[in-house]
Amino acid sequence: MANEPIKIPQATAKRLPLYYRFLKNLHSSGKQRVSSAELSEAVKVDSATIRRDFSYFGALGKKGYGYNVNYLLGFFRKTLDQDELTKVALIGVGNLGTAFLNYNFLKNNNTKIEVAFDVDESKVGTKIGDVPVHHMDDLEEVIINNNIQVAILTVPAPPAQAITDRMVNAKIKGILNFTPARLTVPASIRIHHIDLAVELQSLVYFLKNYPEEM
Ligand code: ATP
Repeated sequence: MANEPIKIPQATAKRLPLYYRFLKNLHSSGKQRVSSAELSEAVKVDSATIRRDFSYFGALGKKGYGYNVNYLLGFFRKTLDQDELTKVALIGVGNLGTAFLNYNFLKNNNTKIEVAFDVDESKVGTKIGDVPVHHMDDLEEVIINNNIQVAILTVPAPPAQAITDRMVNAKIKGILNFTPARLTVPASIRIHHIDLAVELQSLVYFLKNYPEEM
């Protein structure tokens, strides 16, 4: 997104990959246009939000016609830097980390887990889902040599901050944090937290307390 001149709101930016995936499917099934109502039903975002989001992309849907799928795809590809492969490091090859290495969800959107790291000697030197597992001692060297800018953190919470500090020194730009630890980083580093336990608890809370608003 670095060389994209259009500044779009963060909430809109977060929905881009969702729109992109759906439009790619539409495109491969030969569809050339889509209405905001169809999109809304498919991605579960209300159509007013979709129209507002798309107006930032310069895509103005026409009444009775909808949006041009090719135009939108071109925009998303450029904006999401789909022409450029983003290499990702995974730190912590436990149950969750191993699942990510085996699950090739990253293959179709030009991000690839290139290397993994762990302290466990029985894992170091092995390959999981084609990804080599390196020792943590080599973290900075491997990250810098492979020009890796994004990391997925799947270690236990206690070492998470110290590992993050090392990644910051190795010039990592973004971290997808699956640990419950709240990490402190310089303002230039972007962190997205995915705390599965908290998300699940919050879902259960909403079901119990707001059941009729569904
Ligand atoms: P497992 O059953 O393999 O231990 P787990 O997901 O239950 O998996 P966790 O204790 O959450 O285990 O640890 C996740 C992974 O993080 C493990 O592979 C562990 O070796 C690794 N790990 C622990 N501490 C560090 C660290 N300081 N640096 C890198 N990896 C670490």
